[in-house]
Amino acid sequence: MPDTNFAITPIGNITTPFRQKFAIPRQPNLASAKGTVRFAPQFNDANCLKGLEGYSHLWLLFVFHATVERGWKPTVKAPRLGGNATLGVFASRSTHRPNGIGMSVVRNLGHQMNRGKLELLVEGVDLLDGTPIVDIKPYIHYADALPHATDALEDYAPLPNRAVEIASTAKADLAVLARRYPDLPALLEKVLQQDPRPAYRQFDDNDDKEYRVALYDVDIAWKVQEGRILVTGFSPFPN
Ligand code: SAM
Repeated sequence: MPDTNFAITPIGNITTPFRQKFAIPRQPNLASAKGTVRFAPQFNDANCLKGLEGYSHLWLLFVFHATVERGWKPTVKAPRLGGNATLGVFASRSTHRPNGIGMSVVRNLGHQMNRGKLELLVEGVDLLDGTPIVDIKPYIHYADALPHATDALEDYAPLPNRAVEIASTAKADLAVLARRYPDLPALLEKVLQQDPRPAYRQFDDNDDKEYRVALYDVDIAWKVQEGRILVTGFSPFPN
């Protein structure tokens, strides 16, 4: 084979509400989390996005930068299969893969110049805050949307969908936080509905362990009681 090692330089980074990997939805559009792509100096040129406003959605190609150094294996544990059964790395969307490349379809909310910096606004991200973006492409529905495509795991392992309740002692704090982050109440509900606990605990309807999820700079405490997720309090993140 000819020498085909390619160097990839990120075109920018994305800012998202997800400050830690825990509880990030496993695919895009499972929560309406917003993101802002900011560009490296050589791509800080609105001409690069000319025409993108004609597309409602776009592909973000990125590097799983927080895990890429851990390398990859031919098989991966599949959270959708309860965490123990394995799938081939190329039969999965695992973060642990050769080249560490990820891809997500997100909604295009448009772009703007902000004090000389080009910003592309998107919604539906499943990316850690600060993720390096290596390419952006329009989502072309006539080619990319395949309504008859099948996925054998879809019925076997549906996403958890738990009710989410805010404890009465936490409601006033959430109302205050929502003034700063208007999308926080809806975002936390969507993220927690999917029960971010490890797969082996997801069947436990009464789990007194306190879990914490960071969205923006808010640390959210919650537990599982009588089948529903109960949000018990908010504190600054990082503490
Ligand atoms: N939609 C993408 C894909 O198919 O390539 C991501 C799928 S992967 C299963 C989604 C998970 O990647 C998220 O739940 C989060 O834990 C993790 N993740 C997101 N951004 C990351 C990053 N920059 N580095 C490492 N892991 C990341």
